[in-house]
Formats: sequence, structure tokens, C-alpha cells
Amino acid sequence: MGKGIVTASTALLLKRMGYTVTAIKIDPYVNVDASTMSPYAHGEVFVTEDGGETDLDLGHYERFLHQNLTKDNNITTGKVFREVIEKERRGEYLGQTVQIIPHVTDQIKSMIKQVSKDFDVAVVEIGGTVGDIEGLPFLEAARQMWVERPEGVVFVHVALVPILSTTGEQKTKPLQHSVQELRRIGIQPNAIIARSPKPLEPEARKKIALYSSLPEEAVFSDPDVRFVYEVPLVLLKQGYHKRIARLLKLQATEPELEDWKEFVNTLKELEEGPTIAMVGKYTKLKDSYMSIIESLKHAAVKVGKMPKLKWIEVREVEKGKVDLEEALKDVDGAIVLPGFGEKGAEGKIRTIKELRERGIPTLGICYGMQMMVVEVARHLAGLEGANSEEVDPNTPYPVVALLKEQKYVKYMGGTLRLGAKAVRIIKGTRLWEAYRKEVVMERHRHRYDVNPKYLDKLESVGLRVNAWDESGTIPEGIELEGQSFYGVQFHPEYKSRPLEPSPLYTYFLKDVLKNA
Ligand code: GLN
Repeated sequence: MGKGIVTASTALLLKRMGYTVTAIKIDPYVNVDASTMSPYAHGEVFVTEDGGETDLDLGHYERFLHQNLTKDNNITTGKVFREVIEKERRGEYLGQTVQIIPHVTDQIKSMIKQVSKDFDVAVVEIGGTVGDIEGLPFLEAARQMWVERPEGVVFVHVALVPILSTTGEQKTKPLQHSVQELRRIGIQPNAIIARSPKPLEPEARKKIALYSSLPEEAVFSDPDVRFVYEVPLVLLKQGYHKRIARLLKLQATEPELEDWKEFVNTLKELEEGPTIAMVGKYTKLKDSYMSIIESLKHAAVKVGKMPKLKWIEVREVEKGKVDLEEALKDVDGAIVLPGFGEKGAEGKIRTIKELRERGIPTLGICYGMQMMVVEVARHLAGLEGANSEEVDPNTPYPVVALLKEQKYVKYMGGTLRLGAKAVRIIKGTRLWEAYRKEVVMERHRHRYDVNPKYLDKLESVGLRVNAWDESGTIPEGIELEGQSFYGVQFHPEYKSRPLEPSPLYTYFLKDVLKNA
């Protein structure tokens, strides 16, 4: 609905006014983190520098703020209750009956305060919809924070204003109801952001202001835009930042946004560039690949061409429903996307074979890279039946195998090899061309990796490791000699930002343009 982008935009505007800012996402679900959630349900799992598996909104916050956040910037019901229950077991509430109010709400407040203690402002996004049972403890905690310090807390209500298909009229009823619902639990919003396909009509604005007991200047319009990066500028124009600053008793200076504006202008004016095949299995929900899609936009501004994305659903390939010859005819480059599990693996491998044989520049990310290794093992190195242990535990040639450190892991949640780790790049490789650095810190999320046992065999057909982890035992990337066919075990997309595009995605886009 756009709350994530509004939160990120609010944080950016305040930061560019000269304040130190952090952003927090509250997810009222009972999962401790996003670790075991399917990308079909919530989109991509975003990985933080410290290895948190978080909601994808943290990705927006990091991209807007150009700032690393931590796993603690994502608070869930699961995390809150886990703490409260452990405290109870330790005897910290000795003699008391532990209740939602005050124990759970106190825990929520202390978690919010803990992550924000070193910042001037924390922008906290409360997920879900007002009125959800799960969200109540969080809203109650927010209300209490306001009671404790009214001058320190501002409530911004983001609500949908749908457009009636018959008359084209903007309907403010749902918004009126959610404001009432908020008031019922003791929260009076200080500003309203109306999400609507079109800019807010004066009539609708007037109505919203009246029903919300707010002046019209406190109602802001958040219409559909082509790029999310435009939203802070849309809000800026309406003086949103001034209202927030004034309410928080901050100086309402003009935000410094020249570089941001330049980025947005370039982005909007980019010529259409090469066609890139996006090879994956969660292609129905593009949010599953949010950071990769955004990385390509950042890189596009750097290289001056906007790629066109063509989605290839590998399970359809597997079922023989996709004519690969036809599908790849107009493709200039391909990204083999990350993934988990055995579904779609054969479709991926078949697609990779086609890409390699046609010499189409191909970049593999994590699982995508692993499947590229399987493909080369089978079709170039003659290891028939080669596979990843994740896909086929009984494969005669486990060219991708469970990491040693993963052998004794019992829990599924939060136990992958996670977060930023040093990657040592071998000089003279394509990866070196991309980064021009010996050591880079990139983020990880995996349990399996290229099996060093098969490296000699793979090297004999030209497939080389181009980077290792710090210990020199975990391959971090591969590339095929004489061809634009490379992949990495890590996820460079998590660190790509509008004004600091990822070196690897930029390199890949240049590589594709060279070949197009
Ligand atoms: N499933 C693979 C692994 O665990 C790759 C994960 C991914 O693509 N993020 O190693």
C-alpha cells in the first residue's frame, strides 16, 4: 500500500534536514523474523549487515537513507513475546501476573527506544491495518509513548483513497473509518497521507481534514508515481517535512536533496536499453526480487540505459510450457535468480544451458550461481546427474553441497550463513574487474555452496572460482573462461543504493550493453 515508502521518505527528508535518523519496521505477525517465510506471502526477505532476515521494507529504508540498519530495526510479535517469556522464566517478573499491558507493551517500548537511542529521530512503521487484533499491543505502546512525551511523538496515518471505477470519484469513506478506529484506541493522527492512484482532489482533501479534525495543510497526497524514489520529492513539494519538523519541535530547514533530485530526473529520462531475462520461480510476485530489481535501476542510472525485464518462470520451463528458443530470441542478458528447494531447479538448469550455448551474458545470484555450476558440471564436465544436495540428496556428484558448518544445525529459523562477510577476490577475474578491490564485504543467505571437491574437474572445462571467503574454504563466486557467464554466492543487491550502485550489477549491465 505504500507505508514502507512513506516511512523511508519521511526518514530521508528528516536526514537531509540535518538530523540523524533511523527507521523501524513493526510486523505484528508471530514469526520471530522473516527467516522461514515464503517470498510468495511477503515478498523478498531482506538481509541486514548483521545477518538479520527482515521484512523487505528495511530494504527501502536502507536504500533511501544510504545507511545500514540492524536486525533490531525489525520488531515482530514473535521477538517481543520471546523476550517477555524468557524474562518470565528467568524470574524477572517474580510475583507478578504477566500481561499484555503493561509487560508486553513495556517490552515493545523498550525495544523501540533501544534501537533509536543514538538518533535524533526514529521513524516507526507499524505494519498491518488499524483494527487488526495483532496490531493492538503495538498501537497501545505507541499511544503510551505519546502520553509519556507528547512533544516527542507524531502520528502519521497512511490510508488508501480508492477511486470509484464508475464515476472516477475519490472515496474517502475507508479513510474516515480507519481514523475513527485510531481515535477509538486513543490515537489522534497529526498528519494524513492519502494513497491514491491520482492526486487528491480538493473536495476529498477538505472532507478528510474535516473528519480527521485536522487542518487541510495536514492532509498530504501520495499519488501513484513511476518510481518510488519520487515519493520524497512529492511530499517535499507539499511541505510535509515542515509539518513533521514543527510538530517534533525541530528546525524546519529545507532538506538538502540536489543529488537525489538529479538521480530521480536521470532515472525518469533514461532511454530504454537491453532486455534482461529474469530467470526464477517466484516471478508471479515481483516483490520477491525487490532488491535485485532496484539494483538494476541504480545501475541503469550509472550506465545511462534502463533495461527491460523479461520474466522466465522456471517451473513453466520444466513443464515444457515455455519455448526457450522463442523466449530468449530478443534477450541480451540474463540473471539467474536466488531461490530455495528443489522446485523449478531443472527448469533453471535447462534455461542456463540455452543461455550459455547462445553466449548470452549471464549473472547468477546465490542459488542461481549454484545451478550454473550444476549445468556446467553436467553438460561440459560430463558429470551426469550432478546436482546440488539441496535438490537431490542422493546425487552421484554433489557439486553443490551443504556447508560444513551447517551439518549440525537443527533449527530452520535464522541458522543460514547470514549477513556481511569478507569476500576475497582473485585478481585478473571478472569479479575483480567489477570491484577492483581485493576484499569486499557483501551479504549472504545460504546453507549450500560449490563443493571444493569438484573444483579440479570443473576447472578442466574452464569454470573457475573467482573469490573465496576469509578462511579460503568457501567459494564465493565462479566464472567461465572466455564467456560472460559468472555468478556469486553472495547478494550484492542488498547493498545497492540509488547514489551508490552495486559494482557487480553495474558491471553486468555494461557487459550486457557491450554484447547487445
Ligand atoms: N538455497 C540455496 C542455499 O541455501 C541458495 C539460497 C539463496 O539463493 N539465497 O544455499
